[in-house]
Amino acid sequence: MHDSLIQVALNVPVGDLFDYLCPAELPLPPLGVRVQVPFGTRQLIGIVANHNPQAMSQVPKNKLKTITKILDDTPIIDEPLQRLATWLADYYHHRLGDVYAVMLPSLINQGKPITTHLPYYHATTNDLTQLSKTAKKQRQIFTHIINHPDGVSEPELYAIGATRKILLSLIEKGLISQSKQSPSDKPVITAQLKSLELSTNAEQAAALRAIHTAIDKGAYQGFLLDGVTGSGKTEVYLQAMHRVLTAGKQALILVPEIGLTPQTQARFGSRFDANICVLHSGMNDTQRLQGWQACRTGTAQIIIGTRSSILYPFANLGLIIIDEAHDNSYKQQDHLRYHACDVAMVRALFAQIPIILGTATPSLEQLKLVHDHKLHHLTLTKRAGNATAAAMHLVDIRQGEFFAPSADGQPRPTSLAPATVQKMHACLSRGEQVLVFLNRRGYAPILLCQSCGYQADCPHCDAHLTVHKNSSQAHASLHCHHCGYRILAPEHCPECNSRNLTNIGTGTTRLAEELHALFANPQTTRTPYPIIQIDRDTMRKKDAWENAMQQIHTQGASILVGTQMIAKGHHFENVTLVVIVNADLGFLSPDFRSPEHTAQRIIQVAGRAGRASKAGEVLIQTLRPDNPLLTTLIKQGYHALAYQLLDDRRRLNLPPYSHAALVRADSHRYQHAKTAIIAAKNALPTQHSFIVNAPIDAPMTKKNNRYVVQLLILAKNRRLLHELLNHWWPAVLQLPSSKAVRLTIDIDPVGW
Ligand code: ADP
Ligand code: ZN
Ligand code: ZN
Repeated sequence: MHDSLIQVALNVPVGDLFDYLCPAELPLPPLGVRVQVPFGTRQLIGIVANHNPQAMSQVPKNKLKTITKILDDTPIIDEPLQRLATWLADYYHHRLGDVYAVMLPSLINQGKPITTHLPYYHATTNDLTQLSKTAKKQRQIFTHIINHPDGVSEPELYAIGATRKILLSLIEKGLISQSKQSPSDKPVITAQLKSLELSTNAEQAAALRAIHTAIDKGAYQGFLLDGVTGSGKTEVYLQAMHRVLTAGKQALILVPEIGLTPQTQARFGSRFDANICVLHSGMNDTQRLQGWQACRTGTAQIIIGTRSSILYPFANLGLIIIDEAHDNSYKQQDHLRYHACDVAMVRALFAQIPIILGTATPSLEQLKLVHDHKLHHLTLTKRAGNATAAAMHLVDIRQGEFFAPSADGQPRPTSLAPATVQKMHACLSRGEQVLVFLNRRGYAPILLCQSCGYQADCPHCDAHLTVHKNSSQAHASLHCHHCGYRILAPEHCPECNSRNLTNIGTGTTRLAEELHALFANPQTTRTPYPIIQIDRDTMRKKDAWENAMQQIHTQGASILVGTQMIAKGHHFENVTLVVIVNADLGFLSPDFRSPEHTAQRIIQVAGRAGRASKAGEVLIQTLRPDNPLLTTLIKQGYHALAYQLLDDRRRLNLPPYSHAALVRADSHRYQHAKTAIIAAKNALPTQHSFIVNAPIDAPMTKKNNRYVVQLLILAKNRRLLHELLNHWWPAVLQLPSSKAVRLTIDIDPVGW
């Protein structure tokens, strides 16, 4: 018996696969198993990536080290995940060891044992009367446990709103008990329907026929479920999932944001009696490992998660659904910059299962995939039930703004046009709700000295500081939204000492202040309407989101004001008027994708109006009512605009008609970043068929004290691009000038 040579994927910056000897007295660890190995002076955990029984190592025999120990009996990365990891490493030009580290929960990366024994809870009585009627949450959790005599795992309970405190209190009262089980001990019963399915309309039925056929065939098929907001896409998901669950398989649903998970979960939970597992970024390490295990062993039957869930292991995946599939949050913006939609399609293909991309506003990439017959187009053109599509109108704000009394009693112009204010009054007096959308948080985006023109900028970024203030603050403060820098707002201009400092522009806080003056001032208004502000600042506190949703669903006439946080996917029965305060904002950005993204956002926000039986209206305020993009969108709809934009992309040879790779160099010194990019450019072959643009300064060149310089490659042919990158990128990383900077590569970047 000889020692065997194996290759181990390690997450270290200096290389990728490393040769080790497995001594003859140890069993040969299967591929995908964790091993502990000596590396320099350290001991590292890695994944067995190759067996090389015959091959000779590049490392001289006497320098080869021996693995220290084998951590798992069976692969922690099963074969499908190995294949996915290899694809990710190849496509995104990342080291395999790094890809594995991204895929695995941190406790697994640290070498912790895989079998976690989950705390399970059982009811010791079914006497609800021991809990006071007002303890609603406790009663809900306790009832859930009573209804599951086999016991309920802690992640499942957390997913329906349990907290550590609630569970402890139920234990103290002697109502429940805790035991430890590993998820695989728990019998998996086939998921059942809990409530009746809706009878589908003709379009839903046609979509489902196609999807069910693909599920029954057990073959890969990609669907674009292109349905206007409120057209019943979710009902299609539910009935597709039913088919999969009945076959004893798992269904994975990706949602763009953590805020959407409770809502999705409540809807799925009321339809199915099934183990629903929610994966999101707010989980701690133990919860993540537990969720990971539940997916891996198959106890989780319905998995709802954000972007990274696409990298989880699944025992028996039968269907992938991506909700709001156009959403940008599916693209990872640092480190391994994968796009969850692309990864999901590859994964579905490997697993030979169907995938549904659902959205009202497909991305241009997705429309092109339909055109190329790579996605099957399913359309839902009408709102389901009684709801009708909201009417959209442009409001020209050049005609002048409505004035409202400000703090000093002086009337000041607001961000709203008189016509908007009038419609809002009419809506509120009918007892309905208005949603006012402004995609800019804070009080004002600029602090300006009117005497000398000074503007408050971030010392660490190429960005203005945003003015923040609220009623509980005595002084305004200035925040950088890019690096987190904060200071108190100055009272005198730091340049000329004048007191003539003003806030320019409007963020959600200032808008809420204006709305208070107009609609909630008891001195001037007969009926002060509640105003609920929803953005990252007001939602920071624990439970803030839940409270706001509670308020929205129980209040009558009221105004919801907020950023895109409020715009995504939510279902507000009573909102009949939507106001988009400044539709021009998005069109100002130089990014070639900004018209597409702005149009998607407008349609998304507009989709919040009139979702139930009452008709809805959308007012779009603009300084440029003749903007052709805006008029096409309003008059002909999103798809007409999208096809027009797609045609522009084709003429300009931009993605999706070309394939992009973006290299970023960042450094504390601008010159270092630029030198590295120039050297990388010089390392390209002299003859090639690509468009190369370098060096270009990043849109925000200085961010958090680091300067970013970029190199862009556009290729007509994806295969040729990747062949080039396979040689060029590893060579670039070895260049002397690369040592002084941080170099990253972004395949299919969102912007540049
Ligand atoms: P989407 O996901 O496309 O925004 P939803 O699935 O949320 O749309 O559906 C919008 C509303 O229409 C929901 O209240 C849903 O219950 C209802 N709905 C969906 N399909 C039907 C149907 N076939 N018949 C009646 N109501 C339906
Ligand atoms: Zn000044
Ligand atoms: Zn900053």
